[in-house]
Amino acid sequence: LVEMRDIVKKYGDTVVLQGVDLEVDRGEVVVLIGPSGAGKSTLLRCINGLERIQSGTIRFAGEELVYQEKHLNQIRSRIGMVFQSFNLFPHLKVIDNLMMAQVDVLGRSKEEARERAERLLERVGLPDKADAYPDKLSGGQQQRVAIARALAMDPEVMLFDEPTSALDPELVGEVLQVMRTLADDGMTMVVVTHEMRFARRAADRVVLMADSGIAEQGTPEQVLEHPTSERGRAFLAELS
Ligand code: ATP
Ligand code: MG
Repeated sequence: LVEMRDIVKKYGDTVVLQGVDLEVDRGEVVVLIGPSGAGKSTLLRCINGLERIQSGTIRFAGEELVYQEKHLNQIRSRIGMVFQSFNLFPHLKVIDNLMMAQVDVLGRSKEEARERAERLLERVGLPDKADAYPDKLSGGQQQRVAIARALAMDPEVMLFDEPTSALDPELVGEVLQVMRTLADDGMTMVVVTHEMRFARRAADRVVLMADSGIAEQGTPEQVLEHPTSERGRAFLAELS
């Protein structure tokens, strides 16, 4: 579904990604791990064109990404993204946060959008929060709303950039649980996280990034228990 070939990304003269190849199949859950500054967020943001690459090719569902506004908007509407910060609209009730883009971008009727929003709130365990404002919710609840809002667009892939790292420890589990259910339901996911338990349990493949590239990748068992690269070993040793 996502096919990245020989990606080079620089900020000015600083090379952040150097010749990175990454493929994500439909239904696959890929977890990106690695030290701070390795380029995990940058790689994720390249997938939907939030960052522009200097060379290489990115294909989404076979279609090559070009940096042209109409094309980018069309591609982005098929890719859901959830960040560390929840980015809900504070002046809108939860239900309206979930309905807005469905109506404005997808052209759904309000009834249809509301029905979809209500179903998704149930799915993320918040059926009674439709009329709440975001600031009345805990961080974990807000993040679950953010996930529901992304899902409301029927994305073909969901990108997560450290979705639990801004949360108090006791709220991390409820968000990971929603993500695991999503993974079990067959959603294609690319997840940047430091939650190794999630990586171990939910990932089909773990990709370890270091020094502007992929140091190694494989099953969670291969990468997390038996890393072969120097950088992989060093990173994992530091965690334990
Ligand atoms: P972390 O785990 O801390 O989130 P990361 O692996 O996500 O790290 P990136 O955010 O992708 O790393 O950053 C990779 C490198 O690119 C870093 O050296 C960072 O300083 C640099 N960088 C990121 N964004 C920019 C930017 N907008 N302008 C200049 N340099 C940037
Ligand atoms: Mg990052």
